[in-house]
Amino acid sequence: MKEEVHIIGGGITGLFLAYHHTKRGDSVTLYEGSDRLGGLIGTKVVEEGLVELAANGVLLTDAMKSMLDDIGLTPLYPNKASRRRYFWIKRKLSRLPISIFTGLRLLYTVGFKKLKFNEEQNFETWAGQMFGISVTKNIMEPAIGGVYGTRLDSLQAESIFSKWDGSGKSTILKEVKKNKAKTYGTVSFPKGMEDLVSHLVTYLKPKIQFKTLFPLESLDDTLQWKGKIRLSLSLKNLIPLLGNRIERDEFPNLLSITTITRFGKNHLTKKPCFGILFGKNEGIHALGVLSNSDIFPGRTNDGLHSETWIYPSLAKTDETISWESILEKDRKLITRKTDTPKAVYVTSWTGAFPAYDRKLFLFNQKLDSLESKWMAEGIDIRFLGNYRKGIGLRSLFESTSRE
Ligand SMILES: Cc1cc2nc3c(=O)[nH]c(=O)nc-3n(C[C@H](O)[C@H](O)[C@H](O)COP(=O)(O)OP(=O)(O)OC[C@H]3O[C@@H](n4cnc5c(N)ncnc54)[C@H](O)[C@@H]3O)c2cc1C
Repeated sequence: MKEEVHIIGGGITGLFLAYHHTKRGDSVTLYEGSDRLGGLIGTKVVEEGLVELAANGVLLTDAMKSMLDDIGLTPLYPNKASRRRYFWIKRKLSRLPISIFTGLRLLYTVGFKKLKFNEEQNFETWAGQMFGISVTKNIMEPAIGGVYGTRLDSLQAESIFSKWDGSGKSTILKEVKKNKAKTYGTVSFPKGMEDLVSHLVTYLKPKIQFKTLFPLESLDDTLQWKGKIRLSLSLKNLIPLLGNRIERDEFPNLLSITTITRFGKNHLTKKPCFGILFGKNEGIHALGVLSNSDIFPGRTNDGLHSETWIYPSLAKTDETISWESILEKDRKLITRKTDTPKAVYVTSWTGAFPAYDRKLFLFNQKLDSLESKWMAEGIDIRFLGNYRKGIGLRSLFESTSRE
């Protein structure tokens, strides 16, 4: 049956949701507060090449491939050389940051150790007990911290792996197998991630109603709307809309992220690579750096090299220090050379990221109970976005497909 669907928030979550509903033949209206669709996702075209404002790539799955076919967008596959990934450990680049013995112990843990979350522990403490100090410090800290935009002591395992059974009955291997869909690696698009937004919008335009410059200011009126109500705004903008439905001490924590794209003549590493993930207390302020022009073709002009560095905004401890100088200092530690960039583009996102901690886990439970309460009253409302079931675009695509 054709359903009436109201989607509030025209970021990538809202666009994915509109796509899935359109495929089912529903009648969709999408309300976006600003005059631009795509939210965090966007690509700036500058003299030196492309600058991604947030996501640099998306993990490709079969379902995603079929959506790309529908919207007429060809994925841009990464260069082979980008299979090389580095960790920065003990102030050196390393492709295997643990010993063979620790690696074998890790395999044992993944395959046989019972998976149990502990709500009292942050990710660092939990992982230390689960995997040991070396794996936590040298693999988990750089890898998880790099994706979730902060350090492990600000995260919680249960919140990050919310789909996994952490009651002590299962193992990591079983949970990974249960949740695994075939993936084809990270891809981008010929004109960058903006291509995904513009193709989705072009595909959706004749099929749905777009209402831009339509910022929702209160939930009260919306609750009277007929049909399905889907809130796909960012967490930061959702909190004020919930009003007194949540207490102040239930507010989730938000993270601020700065992403810097640097164009220069010289490469960051001797061999081309995907990038480098940084551990804690290793002398570097960044969480990670992507070697864009090593990963994807066509990212720069005039043979330049391009890198995107990701920083927690806290890395800038003093207003008098520039992001550029923080980056060059970090870079010099790796290359052991002073190098002048051709151009540097800084994008700072305030409160753009949910902190995947205990508070977020409890906040999601609160949203679940609000959804159930409204459902019992005959109001079909759902909250969707990167604070619910995973931060990446692939999770957003999958969670919106189930709606
Ligand atoms: C620096 C950075 C790098 C990242 N890298 C990757 C990556 O490489 N790969 C990956 O998969 N993911 C990555 N991510 C994560 C991913 O980009 C985000 O999780 C995703 O874009 C979030 O999309 P969204 O639509 O849920 O939220 P948003 O993009 O925040 O969109 C929300 C939309 O709602 C609108 N809105 C807000 N309030 C209202 C209102 N009251 N009424 C109406 N509309 C409203 C906003 O204007 C906006 O358009 C990265 C994120 C960042 C910040």
